[in-house]
Amino acid sequence: MTAYLDNAATTRVSPAAAEASLRAMTEEYGNPSARYPLGSHAARSLAAHRADVAAALGCESREICFTSCGTEGDNWAIRGALELGRRMGRHIVTTSIEHAAVLEPCRHLEQQGYEVTYLVPGPDGKISLDALRAALRPDTVLVSVMLVNNELGSVQPVREAARLTRSLAPRALVHCDAVQGFLKLPFTPRALGVDLLTVSGHKVHAPKGVGALYIRSGLRFPPLLLGGGQESGLRPGTEATAQIAAFAAACREGKRSMPQDIAHMRELKEYALAQLSGRLPEVRQVVAGEAPHILALTLPGYKAEVLVRVLGDLGVCVSAGSACHRGKPSHVYAALGLDKAWREGAFRVSFSAGTTRGEVDALVDALAQAKAQLFPSMS
Ligand code: PLP
Repeated sequence: MTAYLDNAATTRVSPAAAEASLRAMTEEYGNPSARYPLGSHAARSLAAHRADVAAALGCESREICFTSCGTEGDNWAIRGALELGRRMGRHIVTTSIEHAAVLEPCRHLEQQGYEVTYLVPGPDGKISLDALRAALRPDTVLVSVMLVNNELGSVQPVREAARLTRSLAPRALVHCDAVQGFLKLPFTPRALGVDLLTVSGHKVHAPKGVGALYIRSGLRFPPLLLGGGQESGLRPGTEATAQIAAFAAACREGKRSMPQDIAHMRELKEYALAQLSGRLPEVRQVVAGEAPHILALTLPGYKAEVLVRVLGDLGVCVSAGSACHRGKPSHVYAALGLDKAWREGAFRVSFSAGTTRGEVDALVDALAQAKAQLFPSMS
């Protein structure tokens, strides 16, 4: 049996999402722009799917622009905000623990003469509003703060950050990478007070290859691509109807079961912590992290990459830092200022609505076995 405990990296596609994509590919396969019944049928389905995603996010259909992934949404939000604000300034505020999909565009922009202030989190994995207050300037054109950190599960004070930005740098746009918060925490873009917000399908039981950028209505946002006019001319290209249909189905299901799913994942997180403290008290929690699905752990004195490989061989899937680091040390653990042993031993366990207590038990058994097999590193 495989214990899949890496749901922050990606999730299993739900049967309803897979069926919806099959239907879109084999029955409703017309091009939504085509002017015959098969095309208009696809266009109507697309509109319904946009409404489903909007309903899950708590916004209007016209505020949803489909993208290919979270990375695309983050990149577009940042570049678009700077293009809109180009006459007002060249200063960006973000956090040092954003996903690479935000940090890499920021680094690239620094090379082009933009100034970026990276807010460093405290030991709880959260940025402070005082630090944001000190960072905001009249020439700040973008503030980008993630909702849930993908490695720590810490929830950032996005609503308060947006409010502060409105009062101290009213011309700046506020973007939120909500890829890890979507359907894991109750929120709406309007309640957060943000202009732009990114989500991704494959984190919520839809396939890879689809996401959405929320663009607040009334904001005249620049297009990502130029072409045939799809997505209100903002992101043209024939719509990925199969992925979008699956994303909508996953959103419908996820929205319906969200309260129970959150309670289930929270209960599993507590269960895992209780089991670990009973059997392996050396395994410590890096930060509490309020998100229900992410548990940031460390086994000080051991190397997480080795641990993750051994756990994998025992059928337990977890990750050492974010799956996107590809072996590079995690900038998130470094930003927390963890000591070397804690940093090197840090790994992430992440749940979904379908995760079972049996999978958590398998993790605890495998960790005990791995620890018995491995020597602590001599660092
Ligand atoms: N932002 C966060 C917080 C993430 O966790 C991820 C994926 O891990 C992304 C952005 C990128 O999303 P995608 O894999 O859809 O490009």
